[in-house]
Amino acid sequence: MPPLPEVFSFMEKVLEKRREAGTLRSLRPMELMDGGRVRMGDRVLVNFSGNDYLGLSRDPHILKRGEEFARHFGAGATASRLVCGNLSCTEAVEKKIAGMKGFESALIMASGYQANLSLLAALCDRKTLIFSDRLNHNSLIQGARLSGGKIIRFRHNDLSHLEKLLCDAPEETRKCIVTESVFSMDGDVPDLEGLTRLAEIHKALLLVDEAHATGVFGDQGMGLVKPGMAHAVVGTFGKGAGVFGAYVAGPALLKDYLVNEMGGFVFSTALPPSVMGMVDASLDRMAEMDAERKHLAALGDQLRHGLQYLDFYTGASCTQIVPVMVGDTKKALALSAHLEKEGFLGVAIRPPTVPEGESRIRISLCALHSKEDVEGLIRAFSTFVHIQT
Ligand code: PMP
Repeated sequence: MPPLPEVFSFMEKVLEKRREAGTLRSLRPMELMDGGRVRMGDRVLVNFSGNDYLGLSRDPHILKRGEEFARHFGAGATASRLVCGNLSCTEAVEKKIAGMKGFESALIMASGYQANLSLLAALCDRKTLIFSDRLNHNSLIQGARLSGGKIIRFRHNDLSHLEKLLCDAPEETRKCIVTESVFSMDGDVPDLEGLTRLAEIHKALLLVDEAHATGVFGDQGMGLVKPGMAHAVVGTFGKGAGVFGAYVAGPALLKDYLVNEMGGFVFSTALPPSVMGMVDASLDRMAEMDAERKHLAALGDQLRHGLQYLDFYTGASCTQIVPVMVGDTKKALALSAHLEKEGFLGVAIRPPTVPEGESRIRISLCALHSKEDVEGLIRAFSTFVHIQT
């Protein structure tokens, strides 16, 4: 390889800094396997780091409908929805989502990241005050930035803090409150009824990201936000639904507005029919998986109890996402390596994904895991404690 031109040198410096801080990331090859397992090299590990919460990513019904839709409708949508990519299968899936969620309309988007980014940019302008939970996902933060609105961060899940900030804001200014219904790195949930009340009192638009609640909570697995609670909801299909893509749900007026004003929708090719088929089947499967959701909740309780007994702190987690707080980044990496040696994938989450000094192992459970898998994981955490002491 010839030497790289000087223009690349800043990249080396950035990566070197990360290497020193223990925050350098790199890609590892892997194959997802049945039973909530993952193959890495010549080893099969129990996967406690994926977001396939219901274990649907290898579901035969879902794969079959994806094939059928591809054969019938073609490989790609070939254009944006407004040009000639608005296929009947996409419209049908949108109707199904809206019906299941109990909202007037739904609009399918390419991914949750793209949905959040372009939704906030479309809903807020430079004069909007955006009240954003301090732990909101990067896509929500970037969307708020893209809108040009003024971002006011409130303390995580702290509604009295949010109320004070709302009271301090001028009454006539447009306001938007943004939060998640299950926080991705902490596995805790906000007081959605309280947020709805505050939004009503202060005439603020309430936007809730249901990325980690989709499939796992609510009627038919459609999340924690009930009709009448939020003005706009984002759900994703790449996690609990096991497929790919996202949706925005809200009143029909919101959909009409977004179809005209949301750049990430207007200027992007529609999702391919195979994905629409798989999402369609996944929604059917999600609707009938109450037993799996119950099992997932029981695994969460089992894991939290086991870890707390070992004196690990799991924050306010009450869902399928269980953070094991470590603090120091290098220690989190050592713990992750130890888990891997013991046969478990539990990836260390480091800044900037989480705040400085709050590195952790983010354990995410899957309905395909057994009680014995979780017991084994707790044992692996306990042997780390012994090595350390
Ligand atoms: N919102 C939250 C809270 C997330 O955790 C993620 C994924 N990490 C996204 C949105 C983005 O969704 P997608 O992966 O579909 O782009």
